[in-house]
Amino acid sequence: MSGEWTAEELAIFKQYHGRCIMCPAKAVTLHEIIPKSKRPRDWNEPDNRVPVCARCHRKIHDIGSKHFVDVLRSLQQSEIRQGSPNQD
Ligand SMILES: [Zn+2]
Ligand SMILES: [Zn+2]
Repeated sequence: MSGEWTAEELAIFKQYHGRCIMCPAKAVTLHEIIPKSKRPRDWNEPDNRVPVCARCHRKIHDIGSKHFVDVLRSLQQSEIRQGSPNQD
């Protein structure tokens, strides 16, 4: 993680234990669920940003932000079902 993140951004990373939301890798950046261009006023709201690793970030942009919203929704649902297995 670089030292360029704001406290608010670091809090997002922390919320996800510094991990990518798509895989167990370390998150290196924040992806905007709704792109800045479509949500110019509040794109940086915490609920619009998720931590991702470089590889998954590329993948998200490959599948497209619209589809990613569906992926994200199913991820969140399975998380709720499984609970959080390892708290370290
Ligand atoms: Zn990843
Ligand atoms: Zn992105």
